[in-house]
This record gives sequence, C-alpha cells and structure tokens, in this order.
Amino acid sequence: RAATRQLSVARVTSGYDRADVLKEVSIEVRPGEVTCILGANGAGKSTLIRTILGLNRVRAGAIAFGGASLAGMPPHRIVALGIGVVPEGNRVLPRMTVAENLQVGGLLEAQPRKVAERMEAMFAIFPRLKERRAQLAGTLSGGERSMLSIARGLMTDPELVVFDEPSLGLSPLFVSEVFAIVRHLKAMDLTILLVEQNVRQTLDVADHGYVLSQGRVVAAGETRMLREDPELHKAYFGVH
Ligand code: ATP
Repeated sequence: RAATRQLSVARVTSGYDRADVLKEVSIEVRPGEVTCILGANGAGKSTLIRTILGLNRVRAGAIAFGGASLAGMPPHRIVALGIGVVPEGNRVLPRMTVAENLQVGGLLEAQPRKVAERMEAMFAIFPRLKERRAQLAGTLSGGERSMLSIARGLMTDPELVVFDEPSLGLSPLFVSEVFAIVRHLKAMDLTILLVEQNVRQTLDVADHGYVLSQGRVVAAGETRMLREDPELHKAYFGVH
C-alpha cells in the first residue's frame, strides 16, 4: 500500500518516574520519506521511540498518525494502525526456524491467510530467507539474521517502520547491507523513521533529520543541509 499518513510528534514531554527525558520534542515523519533521529548516547532517542510506540506515556504534547491521536493507545493498537518496529542489531529467535520467526512477527494478525501472504511477500523481498525458511535462525549468517529481523518487523504490514539502531553491533559489511535494505524499503514506498548512531550512512539514506541532545531537538532539516553544517559536525557527529 502507498504511504499516505504523516506521523506528527508535537511538543512531547515524556520520561521515567519523576524525571522528564524528552522535553517538548516536535518531529514530523512525512509519508514515503526516510526521517532520521541522530544524537549521542543518552540523548533520548530510545525514549522517543518508546513514546511513539505507546510504551512510555505522553506527559504533555500530542502524537498523531494520519491525523489520528495515539494518546493513551496501547502498543498493539499502535502497531495495528500501521506503525511497525525493527529492533536493534540482528535480533532473531535463534531456536526457531526462519519461517517460525516470521510467524511470530505476524502474531497480531488474526487471519492465518494474511500471515501466509505476508510471509510470501517477505520471501519475494528476501529470496535468501525463502531458501533458508526451514533453517534455525541461530544458524544463519549475520547478514541473513539482519534480513530476518527486518522481515519480522515488516510482518505486521506497517506503513511506517521505526528502525531502532538497526546497525548496532554489526560488522561494517552487515551495516552496509542494513542500509541497502532501508533504501529498498524506501523505494517500495514505506515511510521510515531511522534512529541511528551511524551518522554518515544515515545522512546518506535519509531525507530529513533531527538531532536530539539532552532530550531536546537541537537541529532539524533536510539531511543535505545537516550534512554540511560544520558546527553540527563538531558538536554531535564527531570528526568525519
Ligand atoms: P542510547 O543510544 O544509549 O540508547 P538514547 O539516545 O536512546 O541513548 P535514552 O535511552 O532515551 O537515550 O535515554 C535518555 C535518558 O533517559 C538517559 O538519561 C537515561 O538514563 C534515561 N533512561 C532511559 N531509560 C530509563 C529508565 N528505564 N528509567 C529511568 N531512566 C531512563
């Protein structure tokens, strides 16, 4: 399906216990685009993702997807609306087969026929997974595991996919594969929110970006612009 819905995070404050971590954070994730969130360790990237997915409560501000408010919605309903998530690194269920991993990704779908259709769609995108459908995920190569963890995240049939540091802990070759898959999914007209520490490759694939620091948005714009901002380089990206 074509991406049509925009995710809007408007002046959102959220956190843990008594501490606010995000402070009046506003971001727009436009349909069909790749939007990235950059920031150092502890900047609040994971908290932003958790809040979008309904795992942390919105304390102030609003989050909407295609105009529908996500306020107070439990995570499974947010996923059912069309927001999927791919976890960090190449996480799979090692003692389950490739096909079983995909089935687990589709557990929220009540109709077995739809799960089977989506699995076939994943095999069309990732033919290697089809070849290895009966193999235990723990015996896959690192690159194949990355594919499987991404395919599992797509089993909920999302329109918007949140990638939570997908390249974390991967060797450079697999990092490149993950970014190639992100490009491929963009070409398929998915909307992508990419949270990453891998600055250079992220800026290459993303259309728009936001830089978080200490729970606030400190820079935002087209990645073309962010890439060329020398002050941002020094302050947040290290020397590249
Ligand atoms: P990283 O890349 O290291 O995951 P991040 O940008 O994702 O960093 P967050 O994990 O969102 O940052 O953390 C932001 C702040 O929230 C940090 O100060 C952290 O200590 C705090 N924090 C994170 N999780 C919790 C928690 N469960 N309870 C209390 N504070 C937390």
